[in-house]
Amino acid sequence: MNKELLDKVNKRRTFAIISHPDAGKTTITEQMLLLGGVIRSAGTVKARKTGNYATSDWMEIEKKRGISVTSSVMQFEYQGKRINILDTPGHQDFSEDTYRTLMAVDAAVMVIDSARGIEPQTKKLFKVVRQRGIPVFTFMNKLDRDGREPLDLVAELEEVLGIEGVAMNWPIGMGQSLLGLYDLANQRVELYHPEEGQDRFIALADGKAPAGSPLADDPQFEETLGEIELLEGAGASFDRAKVLAGQQTPVFFGSALTNFGVETFLEQFVDLAPAPGEHEVNGDEELKPDDDEFSGFIFKIQANMNPQHRDRIAFVRVCSGEFSKGLDVTLARTGKQVRLNNAVEFESSARVQVSEAVAGDIVGLYDTGNFQIGDSIYAGKRKLEFPPLPEFTPELFMRVSPKNVMKQKSFHKGMNQLVQEGAVQLYRNYQTDDYILGAVGQLQFEVFQYRMKNEYNSEVEMTSIGHRVARWINPDQLDPKMSSSRNLLVKDRFGNPLFLFENAFAERWFHDKYPDVELTEKL
Ligand code: GDP
Repeated sequence: MNKELLDKVNKRRTFAIISHPDAGKTTITEQMLLLGGVIRSAGTVKARKTGNYATSDWMEIEKKRGISVTSSVMQFEYQGKRINILDTPGHQDFSEDTYRTLMAVDAAVMVIDSARGIEPQTKKLFKVVRQRGIPVFTFMNKLDRDGREPLDLVAELEEVLGIEGVAMNWPIGMGQSLLGLYDLANQRVELYHPEEGQDRFIALADGKAPAGSPLADDPQFEETLGEIELLEGAGASFDRAKVLAGQQTPVFFGSALTNFGVETFLEQFVDLAPAPGEHEVNGDEELKPDDDEFSGFIFKIQANMNPQHRDRIAFVRVCSGEFSKGLDVTLARTGKQVRLNNAVEFESSARVQVSEAVAGDIVGLYDTGNFQIGDSIYAGKRKLEFPPLPEFTPELFMRVSPKNVMKQKSFHKGMNQLVQEGAVQLYRNYQTDDYILGAVGQLQFEVFQYRMKNEYNSEVEMTSIGHRVARWINPDQLDPKMSSSRNLLVKDRFGNPLFLFENAFAERWFHDKYPDVELTEKL
């Protein structure tokens, strides 16, 4: 064991925020950066959330990406800990990268709009987090507005996501009448609008408001006490082991916009969230984060600002050892040696040269085509290979062909490389062998099309097939006659057959018609 290294590792808290668009992810991120002293005014992070990618060309995307590359990872110090927030792009740039980022974190923060409850994108992202079994902390946002009943919101976690919610604090009133938050762990109330000169926190004795305080005899506070009693009688009690195993989510209430409850949340989160732990390597071994040798895996590759140089940044999650500039590593896939001279780490809003990075940290490597998503790199003699990253089931599909049939060669070259890089998924029509691309977000297609043209000199024709439900079928059960216009039969790049159903209804119809046929969804 390396004590000095372990001390550093134990200071790391690496997480991502999962939410549905507009729940308040950007706003809460910004408040956290303010608390961390990284930015001085609100609006900094927000500024990048502009424009409409769908109509913009790649250069435009690049310009915006220039900002989003640096905000892909946000690092700051808080309470003696080093916090890494990994951005999970939503909206138009929701993509497989969004999912893969969740492979590189040790915890997730789930932000929910308290008026809307759990929404579709949150559900999808939660599923990935659940699969990994990492802890999830919930922030019920927008308490400054009238929302749903707090008891309802907590119950919904169990009903919709199947995870036990345990309240860490409880709102006193809501919207116009929001008075404060009852902090259960610290037995105190945090006032929403303390009077001039008044302390923001009121300590409670035996769960009672001190005489003369604004809470004494307040009917809303009485109501809150009643709810808490209900909660304690019927609800779950906080269990750290369950939280760490991803079976229970601590629930915090607040309002990111008015910066209410965010600090309380962050304080407890930093305290309760796990430091980087062991990683599975070489099939069945556990690698300790304080292992002397550096290792990590690439979870994201981002085409960079300058297409002429074709440089990209490969994002590495450090899993053990310590990164230093000029480190020689081996790429497990090829056995090739690579010297890591050109790396960046992500501090505040600028990219800086890496000073020190240990397990939990993210390092960006300038890449000229060495790396692929899912690659393992390691220093030292012992080979360290991390499990492959899961592939995520695409939901959007496009037919693709070269505009100029004379240019098949560059078309195939570009296609192969971009598919390997994980930019899009490739399928072939089972009967005609036509190319079909799959993605989880529209932007992936636009980036693909642009890069085909600019990097491989291949103009592509794309026709949307739209949303489809992809389900793999056991090849032994396959009869090509099962295919129809409503369930397009294709094969993935490994040759496995799957159906692209027009919608869930078409899938159910298929089930009814072929009850013995097993269909599986990857993840
Ligand atoms: P994102 O899409 O999840 O990143 O959401 P944003 O942070 O951009 O927030 C979406 C909208 O909700 C913006 O107009 C925010 O100002 C607003 N918003 C975020 N947090 C709160 C909150 O606590 N209360 C209220 N009333 N509005 C909020």
